[in-house]
Amino acid sequence: MHITEVVLDGFKSFGRTTRIPLYEDFTVIAGPNGSGKSNIIDGVLFALGLARTRGIRAEKLTDLIYNPGHDGDEDVSGPNEAAVTVVLSNEDGTLDRAQVVAAAGSENVGDVSEITIKRRVKRTEENYYSYYYLNGRSVNLSDIQDLLAAAGVTPEGYNVVMQGDVTEIINMTAYQRRGIIDEIAGVAEFDAKKEAAREE
Ligand code: ATP
Ligand code: MG
Repeated sequence: MHITEVVLDGFKSFGRTTRIPLYEDFTVIAGPNGSGKSNIIDGVLFALGLARTRGIRAEKLTDLIYNPGHDGDEDVSGPNEAAVTVVLSNEDGTLDRAQVVAAAGSENVGDVSEITIKRRVKRTEENYYSYYYLNGRSVNLSDIQDLLAAAGVTPEGYNVVMQGDVTEIINMTAYQRRGIIDEIAGVAEFDAKKEAAREE
């Protein structure tokens, strides 16, 4: 399974609907400092529910909404909504139809050779709201997380290597570094379960 497209709409520096195609093997996104490269990754983490706001460089969810006055001190009004859609190719059958149907809570998920995960954040005068969609069906974060976990994508995983992560790994102790290998090998999950069982 791999991401084929990321669509950013009113998210961070993307004031206009922007479609980013990603290729199966290798895609490089190049651009000057501050041009929005990391914001694209933040968009993926946001849509897939893989990071808390701090992990995507925002204090609160509404900071993720495109703000035309972001870098100035003038208060310019912008949109009240941000949305990011991540399109995944499931042509290799990583997820089967039953798993997608279970996560979506509906038979009405279309062709599951393509998985579309969308998240919106909406601001009103006194509040804000966050919505997730799976192949067009409204779902909860836990539904998305369960589905992604079945495909080997978890918030604790190293599916996304962030700016600074490599330096952090270099500076780790050997013991801490082994923790990463345990995580990747799937051993950490059992260690956690063993620990939980011992406490009972
Ligand atoms: P670098 O090469 O330095 O890592 P980058 O291409 O990764 O740069 P980003 O960090 O993705 O750049 O983008 C930073 C830009 O995004 C800043 O100019 C910042 O003003 C802008 N930005 C962040 N949040 C918003 C927002 N809510 N509205 C408008 N612009 C925003
Ligand atoms: Mg960057």
